[in-house]
Amino acid sequence: MSHSIAVLNSGSSSIKFSLYRDGALQPVVRGQAEAIHTEPRLVARDAAGAVVAEDRWAPQSGAGHGGALDRIVAFLRQSLGSDSLQAVGHRVVHGGLAYDKPVRVDAKVLSTLAEFIPLAPLHQPHNLAPIKRLFERAPEVPQVACFDTAFHRSQPEVAQMFGLPRAFHEEGVRRFGFHGLSYEYIASQLPSIDPIAAKGRTVVLHLGNGASMCALNAGKSVATTMGFTAVDGLLMGTRSGALDPGVVLYLMQSRGMDAKAIEKLLYQESGLLGVSGISSDMRTLLASSEPSARLALDLYIYRIRRELGGLVAVLGGLDAVVFTAGIGENSAEIRARVCGDAAWIGVELDAKANAAGSRLLSTPASRVRAWRIPTDEEGVIARHARSLTEGVRAHEAPLGTTG
Ligand code: ADP
Repeated sequence: MSHSIAVLNSGSSSIKFSLYRDGALQPVVRGQAEAIHTEPRLVARDAAGAVVAEDRWAPQSGAGHGGALDRIVAFLRQSLGSDSLQAVGHRVVHGGLAYDKPVRVDAKVLSTLAEFIPLAPLHQPHNLAPIKRLFERAPEVPQVACFDTAFHRSQPEVAQMFGLPRAFHEEGVRRFGFHGLSYEYIASQLPSIDPIAAKGRTVVLHLGNGASMCALNAGKSVATTMGFTAVDGLLMGTRSGALDPGVVLYLMQSRGMDAKAIEKLLYQESGLLGVSGISSDMRTLLASSEPSARLALDLYIYRIRRELGGLVAVLGGLDAVVFTAGIGENSAEIRARVCGDAAWIGVELDAKANAAGSRLLSTPASRVRAWRIPTDEEGVIARHARSLTEGVRAHEAPLGTTG
């Protein structure tokens, strides 16, 4: 009998899922329930990309996330057949100060994780909702939480500090950093791809809708561009990135904006969307000849250039840069502009390799190597869920038979 791992990544309007058989590195099926509150639908594909399930339901009848999760569970149960489920691994954005690695979730852990909701109000509640529901429906299934913050707990204390009175730091007002599962994956790949960089100094650019950069020293995070929240650092799809905190005071005092309005502005109306006034989607902006689209791209690249300089200064030099996530993996134009700006550090791009989306993007003569490595956050979660529940296998029945 094979022992499978299910991975869930639950966001504000979608739940992504995948299923891993035994020690396989690739899932046998993956899919998502999306537009949960508006036009809910579920699509699942097999390893070859063929659609193996499709479902639509009326939003009111589906009860939001809970309804979507029940449909995912039903689909996974059917996919498992007679196989058993060893564990469910969850992506959880915030592990606070309590967790510097993944953890097996019990009622106490779940209540600790709920305490971090104020630190990530837009994500944490959605991450925890399926854990709670599975506890109720199938309490015998081991659940493992993997955190976006955990990988950065290796950072020196100064890298985690703000210049606020010390008591705030002790209370947890500090630079946590995010996208840690993606950086952990890249760090795990470097030894076989670039052994010198794996032991040395690397900057990873995770450029998706959310975007951040991380400085790795010998595979450990020493600095990153996101801070207390995932709105800091680079310009993103709809998030502003780094902002003078005085701007927030101005918005409150002179514009009379309250916390909710500022949150909406900074998280949903800014970034590429806010600057261009056209779209948050990189493909749309790259295809546009509008001056405002060009300006948004210029600011996007400029912010990366400044942050790269800062991270290289922290590392005291650079052996490699790695591009990953939707934009980093797919946009030769953005990679070319970033690498062009990084010529001074010794990055020499091979234009052909970049256009072809090769793994190695730099020329043989380049002092600093540039890589394109597709990230795999779900794979990292599956591996942690498996290793934390190895030998447990208390749950030998297909998922949710009790629910
Ligand atoms: P998320 O942070 O939501 O996981 P992704 O990592 O999927 O996001 O990245 C989404 C971004 O990747 C979007 O801005 C999208 O336009 C961009 N993207 C995807 N494919 C391409 C492409 N071929 N060229 C440029 N940008 C792309």
